[in-house]
Amino acid sequence: MGLTNSSVGIKAVDSGLEIKRLSPSDKVIAIAGNPNVGKSTVFNALTGMNQHTGNWPGKTVTNAQGYCATSKHAYVMVDIPGTYSLMAHSAEEEVARNFICFGEPDAVVVICDATCLERNLNLVLQTIEISSKVIVCVNLMDEAKRKNIKIDLAKISERLGVPVIGTVARKRKSLTALLSTLDDMIDAEHCPAPLSVRYSDEIEQAIDLIEPIVRQKTNGKLNSRWLSLKLLDQDQSLISEINAYLGNDFLLDETLIAALEIAKLKLTQSGIGPDQLKDKVVSALVTAAEKICRDTVIFQKEKYDAFDRKMDRILTSRQTGYPIMILLLAMVFWLTISGANVPSQLLADGLFWVQDRLTSLFHFMNAPDWLHGVLVLGVYRVLAWVISVMLPPMAIFFPLFTLLEDAGYLPRVAYNLDKPFKCCRACGKQSLTMCMGFGCNAAGIIGCRIIDSPRERLLAILTNNFVPCNGRFPTLIAILTMFFVGVQGGTIASLFSAVLLTVVILLGVLITFGVTKLLSATLLKGVPSSFTLELPPYRKPQIGKVIVRSIFDRTLFVLGRAIIVAAPAGLVIWMMANIMVGGISILNYCTAFLDPFARLMGLDGVILIAFILGFPANEIVIPIMIMAYMSQGSLLELDSLAEMKQLFVLNGWTWVTAISTMLFSLIHWPCSTTLLTIKKETGSWKWTALAMGIPTVIGVGTCILFASFAKLFL
Ligand code: GDP
Repeated sequence: MGLTNSSVGIKAVDSGLEIKRLSPSDKVIAIAGNPNVGKSTVFNALTGMNQHTGNWPGKTVTNAQGYCATSKHAYVMVDIPGTYSLMAHSAEEEVARNFICFGEPDAVVVICDATCLERNLNLVLQTIEISSKVIVCVNLMDEAKRKNIKIDLAKISERLGVPVIGTVARKRKSLTALLSTLDDMIDAEHCPAPLSVRYSDEIEQAIDLIEPIVRQKTNGKLNSRWLSLKLLDQDQSLISEINAYLGNDFLLDETLIAALEIAKLKLTQSGIGPDQLKDKVVSALVTAAEKICRDTVIFQKEKYDAFDRKMDRILTSRQTGYPIMILLLAMVFWLTISGANVPSQLLADGLFWVQDRLTSLFHFMNAPDWLHGVLVLGVYRVLAWVISVMLPPMAIFFPLFTLLEDAGYLPRVAYNLDKPFKCCRACGKQSLTMCMGFGCNAAGIIGCRIIDSPRERLLAILTNNFVPCNGRFPTLIAILTMFFVGVQGGTIASLFSAVLLTVVILLGVLITFGVTKLLSATLLKGVPSSFTLELPPYRKPQIGKVIVRSIFDRTLFVLGRAIIVAAPAGLVIWMMANIMVGGISILNYCTAFLDPFARLMGLDGVILIAFILGFPANEIVIPIMIMAYMSQGSLLELDSLAEMKQLFVLNGWTWVTAISTMLFSLIHWPCSTTLLTIKKETGSWKWTALAMGIPTVIGVGTCILFASFAKLFL
């Protein structure tokens, strides 16, 4: 699904602290907020960028930055991962916390969900403890209105002591007030101190003991009251960040150590150990948020929530949840397959017509045969195949999948699959990363950052490759259509293809469960951690925007990447097929060498070499097969699936070859981009090697088993 920042051309800033200003006077603004409150929508509307938006918590896992200017100032906007609190628990929460605390933003905009403001205020209260340059943006005001929730923004602002603006991020105009407030805040010489949450007397006394020393030592670099509380809290990950920010000497200061000891002792004497301190801090924040909302947010019971609950009963119940999930998957496939047929054929006709014209042009110019071979029969032909086979299914699949995502269906899938994943001692959120893998496994791997426990994150990373990415979909669809459905098309045929494709995908999901279970019983032993899975409200998807964005950001992006890989691959394969050594082409040497082993797997040497040469991108596997077979001189013209089937059959394909190829396409090594991403995410060659080895061994094993069975019984 190309769900990453990088896939949509945005520079992700992993450390979260590296800001690229266009000019030194640019002001840096952090856009913070709980997950799924519209941060990315606000960010996109302000910067004109296309950071991925989606209706599920946890989709932004790194900081992304964009630029925006008003008549007064130029801003660098930083979209940071969604976080419920600054007492970080997961990797992406740490990225968010570190940026707010140590990124020195000129202001922080905390986006809140108007339909559950009280819960969102928790993060606001923690943010104003650190900085006084905070603007609260109460987003989703339209949803609140639909739910009959009335919010007195002015009164909340008065209580918090910072500006509070209401917005509907989907309507860019509603952000004007936010920008002008931001300008005012930047211009203000001094921001009045915001509300400061009061903790119990014992905690306040402990803070008072160390705050003067902290204030003197930090030189105003960090809020001394907040820092004192954090020192008492002994949050190790934060302490190491503080060390990095303020320098090691800070925590080694003897007066500070002594005061800290006394403060901690006093707290312990009053029965407040580290755990109780955390509880007391959290409950003070919750109480403060409750108090602020008590008479500023008015709920009127309505039927809107009832609709969500009814939908959830249908979509997540034991009886209907799974069938609907499978049905929706099959429907998406059916629409993709039936819709892709005609444009695919038209594209192929058009592109191969151009190939004939190019050939005539080369003849007309008396160009040497090798040049025509390299450029037209090599590079151009592979490109034409990649475009006509890949573009139509992607242009249909991506928007459909994004519509389901935007409406809020993905978290329901995670909810349904939570139990089976728990049975495999893994985390239910793995189903979300699995969904992301449908588009692009590299994106799925980055998405695994939403999983807190390192063990469960590794499980999700090592098994992500078992769902086919969009590079493998067209291969599966083409083979299914040629060998099992018939190339004539028609509704029945496309329905049948969709059912078969769903079965293949379900096989991938089953293997994911099996391998996850096996790994958690062996290499990655452990008990599943608990987590709260949030079911966001259903929202009407923005159909037009989804279609435009998924075509431009995802379809064309993925296609572009495929083309970049396909062109040189076309060149290499043409040269391999045409450079002769002792009267035999290099390609033939390689395929003959691989052939005996490939036959054991139900494949042939050409298919296996296509998978090997397709290592940079799965999209080029079928074009390589076509070129390899064609170079062996069976057919010269090929511009339809029917002719492709003929070519394959002439080269010895049977239905056993077709199934083995599909199995191997589903289960084999990840592409090079995915492996590099795994190395980057795990920081370990061992796990990267395993991520390559596991699917390869299972894929080869499954194919050998299947081919042997087929030989035995048929
Ligand atoms: P993030 O996780 O905080 O970055 O949230 P996103 O920007 O991805 O938004 C989550 C979902 O809410 C998306 O489906 C958005 O289209 C939708 N959304 C964002 N802002 C608004 C709004 O003001 N009104 C409505 N109705 N939907 C919104």
